[in-house]
Order: sequence, then structure tokens, then C-alpha cells
Amino acid sequence: MTAEKSEIATNLERLQEQIKRAAKRAGRRAEEVTIVAVSKTFPFDAIRAAYDAGLRHFGENRVQEWETKQAHVADLRATWHLIGHLQGNKARRAANLFDRVDSVDSLALAQKLDAAFVAESGADNAKTNGLVLRDRLQVLIEVKSGDEATKSGVQESDLPGLAESVAGFAHLELLGLMTIPPFLEDPKQLRPYFSRLRELRNDLARRLNLPMPVLSMGMSHDFEIAIEEGATEIRIGTALFGQRAAKA
Ligand SMILES: *Cc1c(COP(=O)(O)O)cnc(C)c1O
Repeated sequence: MTAEKSEIATNLERLQEQIKRAAKRAGRRAEEVTIVAVSKTFPFDAIRAAYDAGLRHFGENRVQEWETKQAHVADLRATWHLIGHLQGNKARRAANLFDRVDSVDSLALAQKLDAAFVAESGADNAKTNGLVLRDRLQVLIEVKSGDEATKSGVQESDLPGLAESVAGFAHLELLGLMTIPPFLEDPKQLRPYFSRLRELRNDLARRLNLPMPVLSMGMSHDFEIAIEEGATEIRIGTALFGQRAAKA
């Protein structure tokens, strides 16, 4: 029983209250919203504490960092998400270290993930995620929000083509869309970015005749607005684990 553990549990309780209220405002149920606990920069024992508090989805933004933690939490039955930008040369490792890649933003990357997953599952087919045998890598397409040149994510205009291609890969399962809007002091001003992602998802789901149930949007300072606009997954770091030491 570490102090860290009770702090995360307390933070989680507060977060769940806020989720419930935001969902209610939008006529939704809190159960429709999954918390992805963003554990980047925090040690593996923070992940264990969060798991003990009840969390089952975790997000890391760097392949290398996750490689150092993964062995220490391999016994936990959780879903491990890569949420950060992925370089092509790390796609092979990522496809086999994570259950989900939430940041697919190019056809080249999707191709590499699809191929890597096949290659690795050829030798030993006992790829397990808890009790579930994975036969495909789950992915989200990350859509660029706003027009900062450095932001990752696919341009809206390229989204339909990319989504159609990704949906066609045998070893990828396209579950939905993700976005990181620009940082604005007043989270209410982010509403149009979130509602836009919902519209894009709805259009694509119709067009491709795929369910695409996941909308990953909302972080510690704006998740309530994201939930009001239909988020099914919120990616929460600071509000659960506290301030990160450095920018990550
Ligand atoms: C770090 C990070 C988060 C979590 O941010 P907080 O503001 O600490 O909740 C969410 N999504 C992505 C992609 C991140 O890199």
C-alpha cells in the first residue's frame, strides 16, 4: 500500500464523478466512456497502482519507453495502447508490443503494421491479450485537428482514402478515430474540433459500412467537453498520475 496507490485511486474517483456528470449533460451513460490511463514518463509501479484501482486501458507514447516497462506489467490483463506518433522503423516492434495503435496517420505506416503483425504471428501463434487471442492489431486513425504544421495526424482530405485502405488490411482492425486538438486555455472552445471528429467518424462508418465504435478524444483539461461531444475513450495522464516531470 503505497501513498502513490491511494493517490491514483482518489484521482480516479474524482475523475469518474466528472465523467458521470459530463455524460449526463449529454444524455449519455458513464459506461460509454473508457478511460485510457496515460502512463508515459511514470514508472511501472504507477501502472500497477492504476490497475489495482480498476483501470484496464493504458496509453504510452514511445515504443522505447514501453519496452523498458512492459516486462514488469506483463502479468496484468490490460489493453496497451500506443498513443504517440510512430516512426516507420519502429512499426514492427510496436505491432507486437501493443494491442492497439491509436495513432495511425499514413498508408505507409499502416502497411508496415499489417506486415509486421503477420511476420511476428507466423512463428508462434500464442499471441494473447489476457484471455483473448489476437488475430488482428486494433488501430485508430489519428486525424489532424487545427493547422499547426508540426501536429501529427492525417489531413481531413486524406482521411477517406486512408480509412478505406486500412479497413482492407487483413491484419488490422479499424476501430475508429483519434485526435489531439490544439491547446486552448478555454476547453469549451475545443467543442468544434470534437464534434468534427464525430461527424467524420459517422460519415466514414456509413461510407465503409463499418461500425467504427471508437472516438478517442479528450485529455485531462478538456475531457468533459469531449464526452459531451461523443468521446468513447478519453486519454488521461495528469489528472490520474499527477504532473509529469518533463514535457513528453
Ligand atoms: C500525454 C498525452 C495525453 C494525456 O495528457 P494529459 O493532459 O496529461 O491528460 C493524451 N493523449 C496523448 C496523445 C498524449 O501524448
